[in-house]
Amino acid sequence: MITVNEATAITFDHLFKPSTTRVKVEAASGKVLAEQVVADRDFPPFHRVAMDGIAISHQAWVSGQRAFPIQDVQAAGEAQKKLSDPSYCFEVMTGAIMPSGCDAVVRYEDLDIKNNEATIMAETISPWQSIHQRAVDARKDQVLLDPGFVMAPSEVALLASVGRSAVKVFAPPRAAVISTGDELVDIDAAPSAFQVRRSNSYALQSALLDAGCDAACFHLADDKAVMEKRLAEIIEEFDVLIVSGGVSRGKFDFVPGVLEKTGIRKLFHQVSQRPGKPFWFGASASGKIAFALPGNPVSTFMCFYRYVKPWLLRSMGVVPPEQFAVLGTDFSFPNPLTYFLQVEVRNEKGRLLAWPQPGGGSGDFANLKNVAGFLELPLEKNDFSAGEVYPLICFRD
Ligand code: AMP
Ligand code: MG
Repeated sequence: MITVNEATAITFDHLFKPSTTRVKVEAASGKVLAEQVVADRDFPPFHRVAMDGIAISHQAWVSGQRAFPIQDVQAAGEAQKKLSDPSYCFEVMTGAIMPSGCDAVVRYEDLDIKNNEATIMAETISPWQSIHQRAVDARKDQVLLDPGFVMAPSEVALLASVGRSAVKVFAPPRAAVISTGDELVDIDAAPSAFQVRRSNSYALQSALLDAGCDAACFHLADDKAVMEKRLAEIIEEFDVLIVSGGVSRGKFDFVPGVLEKTGIRKLFHQVSQRPGKPFWFGASASGKIAFALPGNPVSTFMCFYRYVKPWLLRSMGVVPPEQFAVLGTDFSFPNPLTYFLQVEVRNEKGRLLAWPQPGGGSGDFANLKNVAGFLELPLEKNDFSAGEVYPLICFRD
């Protein structure tokens, strides 16, 4: 049995090669950039007035002048005007280009304006004050964003400002979510006394969608021959298979054997963790990947966030930042396994505190509503003390 870190490393050695696609700029938030974005002009492209007020020649202020007749107005969006006499001033508006001959802006709050003359009330005026100077933020041709950057609405603003109405982003893999189990019926069916509705596949589909990946859903009965035929077809069509159930030691747990038969070579089976010990992972010679997750709903869920999601991001060149939280109370786990403790997380004055909500085991998915994530407690220890810091795998904002 391999460790959690060994299992992670193996998955990272078998990333998928993402293709790229173009999205409209307003849809770019949350996507992973697949090209460099370069400044097409200086940032800002001209000396930009940063306050409503007047623009003066600073030299005039230095020579003792305090009252400035107003020559004209320089509004935002007007071509640059010129101060004809350095003892005059321009009324200027935020966003306007600085009139030539001016090198300081005095805001209205520091002025007394009467009879078309502005008197400066401020004690000091610095050269270039209240001016957003050309190119201070970035120069033309400077690289603003690199591939692998996960964009937020802030980058949408950046893209728009350099004239990009569409942008190249990494495309998610073609993913298939496959639930297995003869006891499972679909949402709309009325289950018999011995059946349950399948929920893992919908949770996985939704988690994938959150990660930008629109997956297709399948269900396979615990029938070796049927499974083999369907899986062979699904593998043809998809880059990654995320299977739930059928990987343990039960008489009808056919998934590992069938995946191997369809050409997906086992890279590991069983990880020293709870929940999720029977986790199976494999890849085909042509680079198709299969995550076969244990079917217990909490195991499936945890394995997705601990293994599949980071693998997806890594494949697109993103190194997700590690998160940590402080254990809120003492906790013990007697087995030599990495324990993924279900925790509620509270931000207490800047410290993320994790409060155990262990629930009723890997079948108790109703407990997840009390939980924000899993605290990863290392297998080397059994007793964990309040105040200790551990990695946090969060699935809730
Ligand atoms: P398995 O890993 O196939 O042995 O399944 C372990 C447990 O998880 C069983 O109680 C299954 O009924 C349950 N289970 C497996 N797949 C799903 C699913 N898609 N939705 C809900 N429960 C499931
Ligand atoms: Mg099963």
